[in-house]
Amino acid sequence: MSHSAPITIVDVGYRSTHYWVVSAGTSRLLVDLGWPGTMGMLRANLRRADVPIEEIRYGLATHYHIDHAGLAEELKRADVPLLVLDVQVDAIPAMKTWTKPQDHYVEISPHDNLVISCDESRALLAGIGIPGEIVHTPGHSDDSVSLLLDDGAVFTGDLTHPAYVGERDAKTARTSWRRLRERGATRVYPAHGPVWSLDTASI
Ligand SMILES: [Zn+2]
Repeated sequence: MSHSAPITIVDVGYRSTHYWVVSAGTSRLLVDLGWPGTMGMLRANLRRADVPIEEIRYGLATHYHIDHAGLAEELKRADVPLLVLDVQVDAIPAMKTWTKPQDHYVEISPHDNLVISCDESRALLAGIGIPGEIVHTPGHSDDSVSLLLDDGAVFTGDLTHPAYVGERDAKTARTSWRRLRERGATRVYPAHGPVWSLDTASI
């Protein structure tokens, strides 16, 4: 592509969880992948937001908890490839231990995912017209990553807000926030709650 389309951000979330569609024109990335058993709800919200599912180039879970990766396998079956960071691979099998049969969780197959390192993420994102990178940001969980766009927008999943960082995860979470800030993050799109501004004072 000779020049990038402007980046747009749309929320297709439900049940108090944001699922962000980051788009460069019609080239799209879905950040966080729904609760188990809610494919109909996600499809309805995509339709309402005018996002054809065929235009989603990858699904990315900020981490493998059920409200963030619950539909990963069903999205794969709908031809949305699952982008997995190497630091997340070991966290995937535990998903099934947090779900009951009535949740209708479809187990994520390990065989057909696109696994990359954070170092490889910039090139992959550039390939779909999205300038940015994926950063490992442990704190809420070891497998947590954030999508950081070059314009300062950052999708942090459940990384604990700096004001609420507890004793247990304090050091790791603060290091993650500092890493994001140093790399240019200014506007935080969390998985739950409102968008907020990150400045040096807040960390
Ligand atoms: Zn979580």
